[in-house]
Amino acid sequence: LESALRHALERNELFLRYQPKVDTATGSMLGVEALLRWHNPVHGTISPVRFIPIAEETRQIIPIGEWVLRTACLQQVVWQQQGLSLTMAVNLSAAQFQTSNLIEVVASILDQTGIDPAFLELELTESTLVHNPTEAAETLEKLRSLGVGIAIDDFGTGYSSLSYLKRFPVSTLKIDRSFVRDLVTDPGDRAIAQSVVALSSNLNIKTVAEGVETQEQCVILKAMGCNLVQGFLYAKPMIAEEIPLAYAAISSVQKNC
Ligand code: C2E
Ligand code: MG
Ligand code: MG
Repeated sequence: LESALRHALERNELFLRYQPKVDTATGSMLGVEALLRWHNPVHGTISPVRFIPIAEETRQIIPIGEWVLRTACLQQVVWQQQGLSLTMAVNLSAAQFQTSNLIEVVASILDQTGIDPAFLELELTESTLVHNPTEAAETLEKLRSLGVGIAIDDFGTGYSSLSYLKRFPVSTLKIDRSFVRDLVTDPGDRAIAQSVVALSSNLNIKTVAEGVETQEQCVILKAMGCNLVQGFLYAKPMIAEEIPLAYAAISSVQKNC
């Protein structure tokens, strides 16, 4: 896999899928998350859960991540021109976050693609940020000053430090799927989700619930005040061409829980 991955980018084996994020208040689609996919002629389709750790180890994630960011930004601009105002969320790996020229790379991609930075959000996990919090805070401030949003992905599963929520310029918290899965039956998960929403709203941070698969979960999350939901209930990650249709379908159905 490691050697196959080395050629994946140049051989056009990588592509992106986009998963809608839906506003709980209006039922309309406000944005998407770009999710990386790899299809190799020999190995078939390989899950990002498998190949991203390899790409991180070999530092291939740096050119790959740059390609993801550029491709996602270009796509956002295309949709914008078609009249679809969608926020684009892009996952950033720890190795990428720690590169010394990250700010220059992001700034030049913003410039080259012409995306309005207000429509770009970078998703980082807690483990990326706790490694060196002082340096992380500086990098996040620089990213924010470019105008892009910062989301904490898989919130609650890592070293959830409450002090960094105050120190870091975070715009969104993503409640991890492990708390959403048993929301209906597990009072403990409900208490955690509710607390994350309350904390976020007091700190002026938006919340997104990941992995929402049922109407019941959505109803509970909406009642809690969670701003956005993302999951198979609304849509699976899809190719770019399917998004305009999903946009219209989600907005018209108003599968508003
Ligand atoms: P993530 O960023 O937390 O992405 C959410 C994952 O949950 C995605 O898996 C998505 O397909 C899946 N998911 C969404 N809704 C549901 C649902 O309702 N039920 C269930 N069971 N799953 C749902 P995916 O696409 O396999 O990605 C896995 C992880 O790989 C991502 O987790 C992210 O950490 C990483 N990843 C994906 N693309 C990129 C990328 O471009 N760069 C980096 N650095 N990491 C990426
Ligand atoms: Mg993510
Ligand atoms: Mg996540």
